[in-house]
Amino acid sequence: MAKIFCVANQKGGVGKTTTTVNLAAGLANVGQRVLLVDLDPQGNATMGSGVDKRQLTATVYDVLLESATVAEARVQADRCGYDVLGANRELAGAEVELVDLERREKRLKDALAVVDAEYDFVLIDCPPSLSMLTLNGLCSAHGVIVPMQCEYFALEGLSDLVNTIKQVHANLNPELQVIGLLRVMFDPRITLQQQVSDQLKAHFGPKVFDTVIPRNVRLAEAPSYGLPGVVFDPAARGSQAFIEFAREMVARVQKI
Ligand code: ADP
Ligand code: MG
Repeated sequence: MAKIFCVANQKGGVGKTTTTVNLAAGLANVGQRVLLVDLDPQGNATMGSGVDKRQLTATVYDVLLESATVAEARVQADRCGYDVLGANRELAGAEVELVDLERREKRLKDALAVVDAEYDFVLIDCPPSLSMLTLNGLCSAHGVIVPMQCEYFALEGLSDLVNTIKQVHANLNPELQVIGLLRVMFDPRITLQQQVSDQLKAHFGPKVFDTVIPRNVRLAEAPSYGLPGVVFDPAARGSQAFIEFAREMVARVQKI
């Protein structure tokens, strides 16, 4: 049975997509069968896996509206070792189109159930909002991975997300939990980042992942080559950290 995780944070530019593609590649690297679901109309996780979002004949949009199955819409990200259920701008329309449909927040969950046995992990890259798309992600998932930068407002932004997760847990998906907070783009030379990191540990204890993802330019360069950093330059510090994070995730899922 696949373990399904959303990578979510309602802020943009915090490292959701970088985390999703590199964790997917890291998990594939340690022998896991992975499906990446791009739930962001920007399609960055799709492109960042080397899949051209403009060439797709079917996407997660079709899956949500039931005009394609996951098996029909997914493609292989050749060099990355995982499958991709891609997204493009069309997905922005789903927000409105879903409103009148039955089981509107459970459509992704229903669709993923069919391919459950084919994967060890399903990773869902969420858009930077708490929208119907994100809700579909949260309803499908066993847990949420929250990437965050150790900045002054990081904790403040977190409370909206934590409240949404609590509500979804109470009303729609009793399995849902925060699996962990992932410190990303971390620079230990910046005292403030160290302080916020310590605060996070004090507040959230074991919910903070042991692995820390450093700020590393190779991770930022990789998307322009259509590859996750882990595939583009496996030896880079950031890539090594994501492979370490993949191992930490494999160990954590034994316990949930
Ligand atoms: P989100 O999906 O939350 O909007 P992204 O993953 O697209 O965020 O990251 C935002 C920007 O930060 C991108 O340009 C990305 O390449 C860069 N970035 C993300 N993580 C790192 C990192 N660890 N080191 C350096 N740059 C990073
Ligand atoms: Mg993104």
